[in-house]
This record gives sequence, C-alpha cells and structure tokens, in this order.
Amino acid sequence: MPRSTKIVATLGPASSDPLVVERMLAAGVDVVRFNFSHGTAADHLARAKLVREAARACGREVGIMADLQGPKIRVGKFEGGKIELQAGHRFVLDAGCELGNAQRAGLDYKDLPRDVRPGDVLLLNDGLIVLDVERVEGSEIHTIVRIGGELSNNKGINKQGGGLSAPALTAKDVRDIETAMECGADFVAVSFVKNRTDVEMARQLATIAGEKHGIRPQVIAKIERAEAVPVLREILAAADGIMVARGDLAVEVGVAAVPALQKRMIKMAREANKLAITATQMMESMIHNPVPTRAEVSDVANAVLDGTDAVMLSAETAAGKYPVEVVETMASIVEEADRSEAVVLDTQFLDQTFTRVDQSIAYGALFTAFHLRCAAIVALTESGSTTLWMSRHDIDIPIYALTPSVATQRRLALYRNVRPLHFPAGQERDAALAAAEKLLLDLGRVQRGDLIVLTCGEPMGQAGGTNTLKIVRVGGA
Ligand code: PGA
Ligand code: MN
Repeated sequence: MPRSTKIVATLGPASSDPLVVERMLAAGVDVVRFNFSHGTAADHLARAKLVREAARACGREVGIMADLQGPKIRVGKFEGGKIELQAGHRFVLDAGCELGNAQRAGLDYKDLPRDVRPGDVLLLNDGLIVLDVERVEGSEIHTIVRIGGELSNNKGINKQGGGLSAPALTAKDVRDIETAMECGADFVAVSFVKNRTDVEMARQLATIAGEKHGIRPQVIAKIERAEAVPVLREILAAADGIMVARGDLAVEVGVAAVPALQKRMIKMAREANKLAITATQMMESMIHNPVPTRAEVSDVANAVLDGTDAVMLSAETAAGKYPVEVVETMASIVEEADRSEAVVLDTQFLDQTFTRVDQSIAYGALFTAFHLRCAAIVALTESGSTTLWMSRHDIDIPIYALTPSVATQRRLALYRNVRPLHFPAGQERDAALAAAEKLLLDLGRVQRGDLIVLTCGEPMGQAGGTNTLKIVRVGGA
C-alpha cells in the first residue's frame, strides 16, 4: 500500500538545481515549502517555475506552500559580525542602536522595549543565549546574561511565555503574499499568529491577491507563540490547518512542553476537520550526516502515530548536504510507521452531528469501506471536501480523490491518506463511475474481484455536490 502520511520539504540553496528538485519529488515530496524569510520575489518566482517543471517531469502534481516570515524579532548587526556574551555580564538591547558591539545590540522591532518588564526572560538564537531583563529605560532594555555564547548578526529573539505585541502580518508579509500568489502557491503559512483575527487577515489578503491569478490558497496557521495555544480552537476555526512550529514554540513555552502539545494540537486539528503539519528539526542531523539519529527516526514515526497529515523538512533540504537522501529516509520511516499499528476505526465520528449531505456520504463511505474490508475508497470530487472528512479518521484503506481540478489535486497532496488523481470532467454519472473503476484497475491500485466504495455527485461536477455512494465489485465479478 502506498504511503499515507505526506512530506513537506523546504527548498533553498541546497535544492535549487532542477535535477535535485526532480529527484526530491521522485523520492516522495508531496508539498514544497518556500521560506519567505530568505530570497527575493524573483528568486521565489524562478523557484515556482522550476517546481512546476520538475513535477511535470515526474508526472505528478505537488503543492507549493509559501511560508511568510512574520514578525520574527531579531537583533541588529554587529561591528565585527558577531560578539561573545559572558554569563553574569550586563548587555543592552537598544532600539536606537545602529551597529552593535560587545555591550549593546540593535533591534529590528522598535517596540520591543515597550513589551518587556523587569524579570522577563529573553531567549536569543533559538534559546541558546538567555538574558534576564533588569530594567527598561526608553529605547534600552538592560539585561544580565544568564547563559552566554556567540551572538552573530540578525539572530532571533523570543520572550519566554510569549506576550510580544507585534502583529502577525508585517508590511513585508503583505508584499510577499502578492509574490506567493504570483508563484501560484496552493498554501500560505502564517507565522506567529496570536489569534483568529491574524488568520482572517491573512486569508483576506491572500484571497484578494489570489483572485488576479485565479487561485484561492489554503491558509495554514503556524502555532509558535505561547498565546496561540489557549486559543487554538478559534484559530482552527479560521484556518484550513496548523503547523506545529516546534522551533519557535519550544523557545516560548519551553522544550519539555512541546511533545504533549504536539499530540494535543494534532488531535484538535483532526477533530475540527483541519490539517496538521509537524515541523522543525525532524531529521536535523541529516543536514551534515547521511543517516539520521535513532531519536529522529522515532520523532518522525511518532508524529505519524499522532495523526499528523505531513512531516516537514526545513534546513535538511534547504541547506543540507543530503537533500535527496533525507527525503528517501523520511519516506521509508513514514511508510513503516503508517502500517505499524492495527487500525481501529475510531467511533468518535459516529457521535458527530452534521447536516450536510456530502459530509454524511463521506462518513457513510468510511464506515462501509471499513466493515466490508474494501480495497479502496474512490471519491469523484471537485473541491476535495469529501476526502477531507474521510481522511480525519484512521483507516487502512487508501482514499483516491479523482478530480478534474489541478488546484484540488495540489491541495489534496497534503491530506493524510488521500491520493489525488487527475480525472476528466464532463462525463455522465454511470460512465464516470465505470471510468473511475477502470483507471484504478489500470494503475494497479485495485484488482479484479476487489470491493470498492465510490462516491460522487448527481448531477456531476458541482463542488459540495456529493450525494451518492456506490459499492462495486471490480470487474463486475
Ligand atoms: P520557521 O518556523 O522555521 O519559519 O521559524 C518553524 C518553527 O518555528 O518551528
Ligand atoms: Mn518559526
């Protein structure tokens, strides 16, 4: 059975060669991520073209995710490019400082002095350096170094416990959304969201910018601020999915809190019929090494067991030495984890209340396929929403999404256990169902004599129009 949990891979300098990208896609990347913290609009546009060409060469559709930089707070630059901080020494973060030195550093976010109080703890460079805030004087934050180390230009700053007031969308993000839509991005990931309004703003901007290019992107809220956690339910209601952004999240809430949060967040996303991506440092050691650590293998497998839709690679594919091998390795771990547990269809969805006809067909198909031990669920779909509902519940039966829409195919590339396939539009129902059966047989996904469940709409071709379920013995046997 093909792999059901998906792989998102970040592109960067290590993966800008067309052949490398092609090999990464062939190795199993389902969605590529563009990191808008780096590169110009021209870089992103060139990359988008390269991805679409590589996908064509591989004969498949992949999604593109534009990941916005957001209000990442950073120190400024230093006279010598970097400094060394000593524990116990004083250090000043100064919004008015142009070029830093051993005593003080500039700040790109000028409001930081207004957001901190004496006693606050600031974490620099992903928590490697820890500063205790002593007092704030105008534009200056006076601190004592608790844990020192090397600090180089433009390293990030987080406040322990969260509470920075910067809005999730910066002026740069607004421009980048335009670029992302020009790239034809299928997903926009919004960094440092605090609440549902941040998500709604991003969606509004992306919808308007996307209209010019005939696209309507999905919005993924990156959960990496402490204050996003208690309002996750509202954020989920506004977003299409979340990213468990463990890098910044760990700095704000403490590393030890992240594993349990990951499990809870994935579970909540699935219950809300939304997507979840697990991200950051999944195969970190493969930036330099050709094999992962045992701990990394367990981490990837556990994310699969938690029910994530996708696992993500960041620097491993963007800047690492083994961009193709890391995808191959991740794919093999995921494949093994996918089939490692006896699947028991959860009964929680039996208690769900819903009023939509298409949703009831989706659950009916799931229940039927599970009990009749069908070989496949085959959904003829425009928007893919039937397969979203189906894929929120574990079932060891593959869900094939047959759609005439390329945009739907690319979006569904992220859904756990959904395998999008191109299927021509404009057929009458019985002919379409017969053609769907033949397509899967020709692709070797089902065998003669297998029982399959098909869903479709009557009349055909309307988004949200699924109202029919048919159980078929393949080949009419
Ligand atoms: P980033 O987000 O890599 O864009 O910072 C992911 C994370 O913080 O984990
Ligand atoms: Mn982050």
